[in-house]
Amino acid sequence: MSAFTSRLLEALGPDVVRTEPEDLAVFAFDAYSEDRLPAAAVIPRNAREVARAIAIARECGEPVVPRGAGTGLCGGAVPSRGGLVISFARMNRLLELDVRNRRARVQPGLINLELSHAIASQGVFYAPDPSSQKISTIGGNVGTNAGGAHCLRYGTTTNHVLGLEYVDTHGAVHRVSLDDPGYDLTGVLVGSEGTLGVITEVDVRLMTVPEAVRVCVAAFADVESASEAVSAIIGAGIVPTALEIMDALITRAVEAHYHAGYPENAGAVLLAELAGTHDDVAAGEALLARIAKDHGALSWRAARDQAECDALWAARKGAAGAIGRIAPNYYIQDACVPRTRLPEVMHEIDAIARDHQLPVGNVFHAGDGNLHPLLIFDRRERRQVDAVVAAGTEILRTCIAMGGTISGEHGIGYEKKESLSLVFSPDDLAAMGNVRAVFDPARAFNPDKIFPAGARCGEVGPPVHA
Ligand SMILES: Cc1cc2nc3c(=O)[nH]c(=O)nc-3n(C[C@H](O)[C@H](O)[C@H](O)COP(=O)(O)OP(=O)(O)OC[C@H]3O[C@@H](n4cnc5c(N)ncnc54)[C@H](O)[C@@H]3O)c2cc1C
Repeated sequence: MSAFTSRLLEALGPDVVRTEPEDLAVFAFDAYSEDRLPAAAVIPRNAREVARAIAIARECGEPVVPRGAGTGLCGGAVPSRGGLVISFARMNRLLELDVRNRRARVQPGLINLELSHAIASQGVFYAPDPSSQKISTIGGNVGTNAGGAHCLRYGTTTNHVLGLEYVDTHGAVHRVSLDDPGYDLTGVLVGSEGTLGVITEVDVRLMTVPEAVRVCVAAFADVESASEAVSAIIGAGIVPTALEIMDALITRAVEAHYHAGYPENAGAVLLAELAGTHDDVAAGEALLARIAKDHGALSWRAARDQAECDALWAARKGAAGAIGRIAPNYYIQDACVPRTRLPEVMHEIDAIARDHQLPVGNVFHAGDGNLHPLLIFDRRERRQVDAVVAAGTEILRTCIAMGGTISGEHGIGYEKKESLSLVFSPDDLAAMGNVRAVFDPARAFNPDKIFPAGARCGEVGPPVHA
């Protein structure tokens, strides 16, 4: 046993500290990749224990990786240099609910959907809804600035975080809030992927459950015409709560698994949701249906009841899982283009996948121009793995060339750190490195994430732990 693990055990006890390889194995991976085992993991019960563990890691020169549910799709929670993983599995409570002021205080390990379930009877909900919301945590969502289907209207996680409690690299606990005068440190911490501070409490904004919600499904001949309809809807000044597209491959996989009522023979499906008063929703649907038909919709229908709405959403949010019916592995890319370029980029993605002889499915937040091509492959075949890597990079470059960017919501993490220099200049990266250096000069918090290896300032210099 190392001095590091003995000190952790002595300070926090065996109930909080894990050091056995079989216990540590569950902290070595996320939904993107698997890496080495950490030297230790802690499962603290409160901020005091988090702070103690961080102080010991600092004294022993060990890096620290905060971890939510490990559903991240860019390797953000993997302990690439070993060290300490802090799991928030036990810090998972709703601490305070203030319905009048539409806010709640939660621990970072609270599962996203459990928050909305816990407060539903009060007529309020928490809006950011990543498709992983059944399992991903509020802390992880803050770490990645998670998006979701309803972020088109409501905004991403950053628009719903009012304040944070976090632990710095010295093990000191701080509280920041949007109400603070001066720099918006809350905004800086949201989306920082565990590289600036370890979040121990989150104050979230709550929204009022709307009077009426209507979920509609339109069938199109192809994904390009569905994309044109989306661009026209937003261009007409309408912002529905969600505008999602699934192509034929995904629709068939989803329908075979969920039997939600999607048109299986369509070339593409548009899922649109409107919310507001009953009158707003009825008027909005009429407008949307007209625009969709003007852009080639073959059919349009509204869900009849809540059960049908729920089924349509469950199927859409479960799309990634349904891919298991088609192939053993998939790689989900996350990139953005301006909405008006959607038809063009869909054409390009299809061509790239064909060039690399890979099947591709598309299920995406069309209203935000946020693409998720799923490249389908079998990881046992080396050729296919190489083809996926090459095609993924080409897709990113294509999106950038169209005025887009390399991530809409999944973050940068380990996966895309080298791609960051495709969208930022060395000076931009140096400025970001300087921000990091203010919070974490030793780069002990989540090293190897976000920044390309050669970036200047905060990322240059000897690693905290080789
Ligand atoms: C099937 C599927 C569907 C998905 N759909 C979406 C989607 O629609 N939208 C979307 O945005 N993402 C989606 N994701 C990706 C993923 O669920 C999100 O990135 C989510 O926010 C990660 O939450 P987590 O609790 O699993 O965090 P983790 O994966 O454990 O961690 C994510 C990052 O946050 C950091 N972190 C975790 N906790 C803390 C903390 N307390 N303090 C500081 N940093 C912390 C970690 O170090 C890491 O960098 C999906 C993933 C899957 C597998």
